Amino acid sequence: MSRTPIAIAPRRPVEIPGQQGITGIVPRETLTGSAVAVDDAFVQALEKVCTKVDVDANSRADYARDWWPLGMVWATTGHVARMPAAVARPENTDEVAAILRLANETGIPVTAAGGRSGVLGNSLPVFGGVVLDLTQLSGITDLRGEDLSVDVMAGTFGDSFEETLQKEGFTAGHWPQSMKLATVGGWIACSGAGQMSTRYGTMADITRSVTAVLADGRVIETSQFSHSSTGPDMTQLFVGSEGTLGVIVSACLNIHKKAEYTESGAWAFDSFDAGVEAIKRFSHRGARPAVVRLYDATESRRNFDTKDQHILLIHNEGDPALVAATMSVVRAECDGKPSDTSLVERWLGNRNSVHALDDLILERAPDTMEITAPWSKLAKIYHDATAAMMAVDGTRTATAHISHAYPGSAGLYFMFGGRPEMADRPRWYRDVWNAGARSVLANGGNLAHHHGIGLQRARLMGEAMGSSMEALQAVKDALDPRGILNPGKLGLKSSFGPTPDWADRAAPQE
Ligand SMILES: Cc1cc2nc3c(=O)[nH]c(=O)nc-3n(C[C@H](O)[C@H](O)[C@H](O)COP(=O)(O)OP(=O)(O)OC[C@H]3O[C@@H](n4cnc5c(N)ncnc54)[C@H](O)[C@@H]3O)c2cc1C
Repeated sequence: MSRTPIAIAPRRPVEIPGQQGITGIVPRETLTGSAVAVDDAFVQALEKVCTKVDVDANSRADYARDWWPLGMVWATTGHVARMPAAVARPENTDEVAAILRLANETGIPVTAAGGRSGVLGNSLPVFGGVVLDLTQLSGITDLRGEDLSVDVMAGTFGDSFEETLQKEGFTAGHWPQSMKLATVGGWIACSGAGQMSTRYGTMADITRSVTAVLADGRVIETSQFSHSSTGPDMTQLFVGSEGTLGVIVSACLNIHKKAEYTESGAWAFDSFDAGVEAIKRFSHRGARPAVVRLYDATESRRNFDTKDQHILLIHNEGDPALVAATMSVVRAECDGKPSDTSLVERWLGNRNSVHALDDLILERAPDTMEITAPWSKLAKIYHDATAAMMAVDGTRTATAHISHAYPGSAGLYFMFGGRPEMADRPRWYRDVWNAGARSVLANGGNLAHHHGIGLQRARLMGEAMGSSMEALQAVKDALDPRGILNPGKLGLKSSFGPTPDWADRAAPQE
């Protein structure tokens, strides 16, 4: 049973909040240091190898932004972090390879971009150069139902991809909230996790192989087998690499039969820690329901109008016998009070909505920080990190929920906000992130669960990676010796200079 190929029309990314602030103007740049010089001769050479090259100032301004909250703040006053000199929209792997070959020979930075839904400045071209918009590479090239695998092009948007799979009777099981905003290449490059990751896994589990173009234009394809003992797994090198090691042009992903049966439940706990213990117990017994979400009391009140309760939502799907067995383990271990199951329906109805951030971003400076915590340390990490963030001048709220559960750990998602003065926002964002992230690291958690590193967390990578940072740098130097791929990210050294210190830039005032 093989279906090949299935067309999915390419489309443009969804408009990023704050757009009106930069529409029709040439925005000013906020980052320190200067961009790499790009002359007309380079642009002409680029136009010879790529059909679609855009040097219009308004288009370049669009590609100078993603969903990083500070970038949205800057946009409201007509600023962006850094403008690229050109936007290239390759239509096939040959064009991607030719662009990278040219950029490598001439030492021009190239930053890959998918839906630009990264929330940490991941796809911002901090040294200028070329932004490589991969959204023209769209569609399924092969679907092998018997092998439960699909070959998909990197620029395919998540919602169109999943809809197409479901029509064929399958699912990839990857459901980020940003389903409409993000592409498959971005999912892999950020090592993303969807809302059903407890059952289907994260992108590290879902990705079987990638086809990637290296900095010098060579094309490599990693092994497609779901298990192999032929040396280290080269696929995983690209999962979470954020465009710094190669450009992913397509991937082979695991798929599953579309679920026909679902069961849900909701429970209320008197404390966050009691909810954590319940999830830990059923996870230890091997129960892996698709959705596991435990909200602290503040978030429970915000989402479900409850009072002093910590709400746990469970939603499972799949084979009826397996779902029933899993749910009976969950019920047995959730000794909190059963709550209204319609809360799950309420969450399912809203789970992909993206709030109108334009007003919120100025009023409340909302942001999020997701990390992984082992069960033994999770409760302390939750209490200490929220307290550390609250202690930063200007912070008004710091809350959290668990949104991914694994046998030995869980993904903890902090939400915070404040009312810092406009001019003080870059400093506030840096300080609150430093306080939260360093508290998590000191208590035995990690730096990032599924949003990646981007520009926001680059300075913390050395602290988080420790001795393995040197090995990552060696891999970078071997695969991209001139350092052209997304420089300034992942805490890697760059031949273009140090990663700009964005926090020292006062939020520009008009
Ligand atoms: C409202 C909202 C909700 C979100 N919810 C989730 C969630 O539930 N789960 C989750 O995991 N994330 C979530 N995110 C974060 C974001 O959507 C993910 O990180 C997503 O995977 C990024 O995909 P993208 O196509 O937009 O990539 P971009 O933002 O364009 O790029 C992200 C990084 O990947 C690199 N990159 C992109 N494409 C390629 C490629 N083909 N080859 C090499 N490198 C590439 C870029 O250089 C950059 O470093 C959310 C974001 C928003 C705004």
